[in-house]
Amino acid sequence: MRLANVDGRASVIVEDRVLDVETASGGELASDPMVMCDLDRHDLLAGLAAAAVPADLPVVDQRALRAPVPTPSKVAGVALNYRSHAEESGLTIPEEPHFFAKHSSCIAGPRDDIVVPAGREMVDYEAEIVVALGRRCTAVDADDAWDHVGGVMCGQDISDREEQFRPPVRQFTHAKSYDSFGPTGPVLVTPGDLADRDDLEIVGRVDGREVQRSSSSDLIFSVSELVAWLSRFMTFEVGDLIFTGTPGGVGESRDPPLFLRHGMTVETEIPGIGTMHNRCVTP
Ligand code: ZN
Repeated sequence: MRLANVDGRASVIVEDRVLDVETASGGELASDPMVMCDLDRHDLLAGLAAAAVPADLPVVDQRALRAPVPTPSKVAGVALNYRSHAEESGLTIPEEPHFFAKHSSCIAGPRDDIVVPAGREMVDYEAEIVVALGRRCTAVDADDAWDHVGGVMCGQDISDREEQFRPPVRQFTHAKSYDSFGPTGPVLVTPGDLADRDDLEIVGRVDGREVQRSSSSDLIFSVSELVAWLSRFMTFEVGDLIFTGTPGGVGESRDPPLFLRHGMTVETEIPGIGTMHNRCVTP
């Protein structure tokens, strides 16, 4: 299934049409897009989609797509999870994952503006694969981890590098949590509907130029390992997000560096899921 937040309402995309979940379920399911992550609702959602007559439904308006998981209780990120990014950062390959949090208020949609605050000169892009948890769970085995994932989507882990590495201590969470620094979307695709959930291509472009390309088959720690590792220590809730790390090619590692400025456009694509288009704006 392709699950979408259309103008704030939970929706299933059927072919290129929008099925409104609350209307189609006769009110059994709420309009809150957060219901779509819940694996316990997926049979009901699939039934509604199967019964729908696409010709009777409105065509998707891409401009109406919002963040598929707009209000997660937790958002975790992984600092170094592709060899290419560890190498370009001059850092050794980690033996265990390094996590940070992004405040959930940074979550934005697939067409929202990325706000580059005035005076911030080192705001950077990071194209990522994002997974949404579909069950409340703790102490998950890696072998069972995908059974706890409600969906997969594109994400950008936007980062203010100046603030991230400002001496004397690093502060990842603050530097990656400004308003709009977590674009996600364009839709949430259920893992069973992906051709190969452990071999997803991720592509990043800035102003139309490809700057990042890799596959989740190159992750140092797989989605399953990330879910297992984190759930040893904390309980996941339905809708919690994991930004699974970014491949090489980020702006701070380029020569010359490529930082985001007013008017630039960031595109993030996972073939089979879709493409986000986010414009950079300095108010
Ligand atoms: Zn990242």
